[in-house]
Amino acid sequence: MSGKYWAKGEALMAAVPRPKKRLFLALIMVSLLVAGLSCYGIWMVSFQGLANISVHLPFLLGSILVIALVAIAIGFFGVITAILGFPASPVFLGVAWSAINILFPLAIRIGKVFDIEKERVERSFIEVSNHLVRQKRIKVKPGKLLVLTPHCIQHESCPHKITRDTANCKMCGKCPVGDLLRLAQLYGINIAVVTGGTLARKVVKTLRPEAVLAIACERDLTSGIQDIFPLPAVGILNQRPEGPCCNTTVDVAQVEKAIKDFLL
Ligand code: SF4
Repeated sequence: MSGKYWAKGEALMAAVPRPKKRLFLALIMVSLLVAGLSCYGIWMVSFQGLANISVHLPFLLGSILVIALVAIAIGFFGVITAILGFPASPVFLGVAWSAINILFPLAIRIGKVFDIEKERVERSFIEVSNHLVRQKRIKVKPGKLLVLTPHCIQHESCPHKITRDTANCKMCGKCPVGDLLRLAQLYGINIAVVTGGTLARKVVKTLRPEAVLAIACERDLTSGIQDIFPLPAVGILNQRPEGPCCNTTVDVAQVEKAIKDFLL
């Protein structure tokens, strides 16, 4: 397929530098180090108090902290090996994902210390997450794939209630919704235009997809992907030529490619 929003989306995408996975991985590594030092600090500070209660307590706390850190480190190692292209078991990838989720808020804070903007870290996270999902080579039937797109992609002047029912769209060409609906019809997949995370979660709960293709900004994609885990979700960043939350657009060719990658 081709159309207005293929060319427009591709041009906008070309202007955005491809996010680097190594930024997120470096921040996660520093976070792991900070978490390790913090655990050691907690253990040292509480040592005497715990020892006064029982001589076994410092050992018990130390063991719990070491086990937690080793599990997170194994998860981080899992992410690195998966990114390098080594086959990883779903259990290993599950641990890797949990490690990412635990360390993510710390990685954002450490990024701030180094004056790295939050959106850059989030873009890098989405790149890592997409890579891990693609690594699994998940294939689903069309009826089990759901495309979720935010309400801000609808043209602000459009009076049609497409969040209630996408069939209300007249496919007039003023915004990319019509092209996305054509894709959904062509491949027989599900599509929903949502007003926020609550509605997105409701749609996922109702349709019970086996894979999700989410279009959104950095912040919503990051929280959405983490929210619906372990459901595999590939995130596609929207473009905001008129600023956030207004007449956003997307590279429809990129969406079509991601759909094809997921289908049997
Ligand atoms: S394509 Fe659909 S949603 Fe977009 S402006 Fe036209 S009718 Fe409205």
